[in-house]
Amino acid sequence: MTARLIEGKQVAAVIRTSVAARVAALPYRPGLAVVLIGDDPASVTYVRTKDKAARQTGIDARTFHLPAETTQAALLEKIEVLNADPAVDGILVQLPLPRHLDPTVSVEAIDPAKDVDGLHPVNVGRLASGRPRLVPCTPLGVMRLLTHYEVPLEGANALVLGRSVLVGRPLVALLLGANATVTVAHSHTANLIEECQRADILIAAIGQAEMVRGDWIKPAAVVVDVGINRLTDGRLVGDVAYEECAKVAGAITPVPGGVGPMTIACLLENTVAAAEWRRRQD
Ligand code: NDP
Repeated sequence: MTARLIEGKQVAAVIRTSVAARVAALPYRPGLAVVLIGDDPASVTYVRTKDKAARQTGIDARTFHLPAETTQAALLEKIEVLNADPAVDGILVQLPLPRHLDPTVSVEAIDPAKDVDGLHPVNVGRLASGRPRLVPCTPLGVMRLLTHYEVPLEGANALVLGRSVLVGRPLVALLLGANATVTVAHSHTANLIEECQRADILIAAIGQAEMVRGDWIKPAAVVVDVGINRLTDGRLVGDVAYEECAKVAGAITPVPGGVGPMTIACLLENTVAAAEWRRRQD
């Protein structure tokens, strides 16, 4: 058996087109402020990609590139200014931050109505209690992929491998909301391979290059690989050994071109949604 390819790049393009149409129909341009501190090369690239994608869909994106030595107080002051700016609908502080800055304090300073990364405790709590508003972009992208490919979720055994605040935990809440039977596995899980072998849907978000092997996969399972790992030879691979797993799975995402493009597309969707909600309240 060869798995069906889940083409995130194509689904992301569909979402971006629909976001552009929504933006064009609005009497204002939704604003997205991206705050980047320092010059971490990966963060600089991510921010540039987000900024460009937002502009292409008609969003008024602005990047605020602050020096690496920016103090916590100065960052909070910047966030306050953006919170108060009526033209800004979405605020995103690019993580990771330089070591002297506290990510929790910084994210908690963002107005929850403008928190397009969905990481503010208000949005985390809404999702955990089954009333999601702004949801983290990567888990949202995973759900959009599953929906687009009409993967049956109700009653399915879904295994989320990884329990980070950014990916694993929100995915658990979203899958529960879709009536899947959810197991979450992490670095202390006993019998990890057996847990994986029971999964109708396996989502890997662990940051361990190609750790999930072909014989961990239940035949015909749907495999979603969130991982992005750079090997010493420069190759980019996921958390799943793609060639092996594609021989057993029913459907599988590639890396790159799977979940990655969906993350950006969902950021754009969150920005427009935040604009529509907030400006309706004003
Ligand atoms: P974190 O490092 O925050 O979390 C990793 C999780 O995986 C933890 O829960 C950890 O367990 C678990 N884990 C690590 N090693 C093992 C192991 N050997 N066995 C079982 N569980 C393990 O990572 P993120 O969630 O932020 O990211 C995960 C991956 O997804 C990374 O490769 C990252 O680059 C990628 N990513 C991709 C995005 C995209 O747009 N495609 C966006 C965000 C992330 P424990 O909690 O016990 O430590």
